Amino acid sequence: QAPEIEGDYYQLARLLTKEEREKQLEVREFMNEHVKPIANEYWNKAQFPMHIIPKMAELNIAGLTYEGYNSPMGSYLLEGFITVEMARVDTSISTFFGVQSGLAMGSIYFCGSEEQKKKWLPPMQRLEKIGAFGLTEPNVGSAVAGGLETTCKKEGDKWILNGQKKWIGNATFADLVIIWARNVEDNEVRGFIVEKGTAGFKAEKQEDKMALRTVQNALITLTDCEVSEENRLQNCDSFRDTSKVLKATRAGVAWQAVGCARGAYELALNYSHTRKQFGKPIGSFQLVQDLLVEMLTDLTAIQSMAFHLSKLQDEGRMTDQQASLAKVACSRHTREIVGKAREIFGGNGILLEHDIARFVADAEAIYTYEGTKEVNSLIVGRDITGISAFV
Ligand code: FAD
Repeated sequence: QAPEIEGDYYQLARLLTKEEREKQLEVREFMNEHVKPIANEYWNKAQFPMHIIPKMAELNIAGLTYEGYNSPMGSYLLEGFITVEMARVDTSISTFFGVQSGLAMGSIYFCGSEEQKKKWLPPMQRLEKIGAFGLTEPNVGSAVAGGLETTCKKEGDKWILNGQKKWIGNATFADLVIIWARNVEDNEVRGFIVEKGTAGFKAEKQEDKMALRTVQNALITLTDCEVSEENRLQNCDSFRDTSKVLKATRAGVAWQAVGCARGAYELALNYSHTRKQFGKPIGSFQLVQDLLVEMLTDLTAIQSMAFHLSKLQDEGRMTDQQASLAKVACSRHTREIVGKAREIFGGNGILLEHDIARFVADAEAIYTYEGTKEVNSLIVGRDITGISAFV
């Protein structure tokens, strides 16, 4: 196998199978050829490069771990490496993919009926149908497990949805949005596949974000929005079912943080060779080397942690709490790593043309979404002490 580039210092990629390594490198090539040249431009104008979707579909990587339904089948470990390849170039693109493959397809895979899976998963796997995942609300972020304000009410063979959803990635152009709502009858959460064009469904783009600007987040308003019983996720009776989706995607976000950190480290290492001060490359100064080594230390630690988490996942042994611990650790260290990378760029670190500014901003979103640092810490805290700090 070819030697791995700088950011995989412990050569974890050598532990992939030959086929997995080939897929990893295929995704790398896709990102370098089709995303890298346009990443800053689309981030700056806050638009999504829709034209890359058919090219991404050719990689055949969506829904990798879902058995059946057109899935090419692959390990969670490979999925993690693919996430790194995306995020080390553009975290927005890996977020688009994570929403599609993890959150939207995952909701149908874990909570849908056989019929719903057969209908929706194959076209979503081919990226012909794009999905979104609507859980968070303007008034309910961290507290989604207990207090959704969006309601659903059964009337005959239809459900009536009312409420708002905030931050919903891909939702401005998605063909379907998974909406989670509280059933007024029993106060338990239900999930719905709301198709584009449904009366009473409105998605408005959230403007002026300072992170993940390429991702199209929407504020969704549901006004007496009618959804058929056929489009209710048939295997979801409470938030416990929603959590099955989040368990897998939190592990994915840990890998995304690794990718963002790795991209930033590699940019800084490269810059330390090309930028000269006092007649020497800045990488020749002891203090700059120390910064680089601090970054590499943390990067290697979180890479190894995510790697082992995926191994547990592949063995069917990963717990929710282990996923939360990795999400906390990886996103926290990433925030520090991108900050140090920017420091190495000096003033150029805040210019978009040098890429690193985009990584610094995007790390803030990773730190917060899929459960904040505090919320994921409390999930682990409850596990280790046996005492819930939530109530
Ligand atoms: P809040 O819940 O208001 O939290 C504010 C602060 O209070 C945080 O620091 C938090 O940790 C702290 N806090 C809250 N409760 C406690 C507690 N009990 N103890 C200690 N501290 C606490 N959601 C979706 O459904 N779909 C998406 O596609 C999606 N995409 C997103 C994309 C981006 C770029 C962002 C920023 C968010 C996205 N989200 C999405 C929402 C995301 O999951 C929420 O932002 C996140 O869960 C936090 O909720 P909040 O922003 O309302 O913060």
